[in-house]
Amino acid sequence: MRPAGERGVRLTVVGCSGSGPGPTSAASCYLVEHDGFRLLLDLGSGAFGALQALADPDTIDAVYLSHLHADHCLDVAPLVVWHRYSGRASGHRLPLIAPAGAERRLALVYDSGGAPLTDVFDFAVTPVSAILGPFTVQTARTAHPAECHAIRLTAHGSSLVYTGDTGPSRAVVDLAHRADVLLAEAAHPERDGLPPDLHLTGRQAGEAAAAAGVRRLLVTHVPPWVDPAAQLAAARTAFPGAELVHPGATYDV
Ligand SMILES: [Zn+2]
Repeated sequence: MRPAGERGVRLTVVGCSGSGPGPTSAASCYLVEHDGFRLLLDLGSGAFGALQALADPDTIDAVYLSHLHADHCLDVAPLVVWHRYSGRASGHRLPLIAPAGAERRLALVYDSGGAPLTDVFDFAVTPVSAILGPFTVQTARTAHPAECHAIRLTAHGSSLVYTGDTGPSRAVVDLAHRADVLLAEAAHPERDGLPPDLHLTGRQAGEAAAAAGVRRLLVTHVPPWVDPAAQLAAARTAFPGAELVHPGATYDV
């Protein structure tokens, strides 16, 4: 069976739990497909298991890591194990795009004794713009303590923007200008005294979507201790059509 997304761009939610895996979802991981090309956006804790229920890991063509917090990158380790020992991997090195320093950090995650993972991955530092398979890629630095980049993927006239982790950010709004779909984190509950430049509230995710003029807002990255219905309701105060993602959901962009 050919992968989905041959004509349009298809987004599948592999994991959407914020800050770590939750009881009903792995941490951050999204599969984006177009024309048979399969790109993973983030590979957070717990996501490699969920991925196997949705796509054969051998069919992944590239991995993009928004940043190197555990809930966005830890399951690179089981992917390395799969590639080295399953006997099924293609033998091709997998392009892995991530902020500078990923090669060293992910080797530590795998505890490879300092040995690089370059037999599995072809590492590339996050570009401002690039072509990746059938996608035109643009990125923007977000407002987050770790170096994090939001990404805009465009193919076949459709555009998807994923915020990664961010506080309110003009750069992210600009990146999302008139996108078809904005997949936006909303990790912070609505309350006073929140640390700046870390995460969005639901309302702030809605405000970003409205300011960018996107067609559709998908709210994600809600931590297990935050009420997702409250995050969605808050997002809808600024963007009435906002939707809450759930694991396994697919969206044609
Ligand atoms: Zn983070």
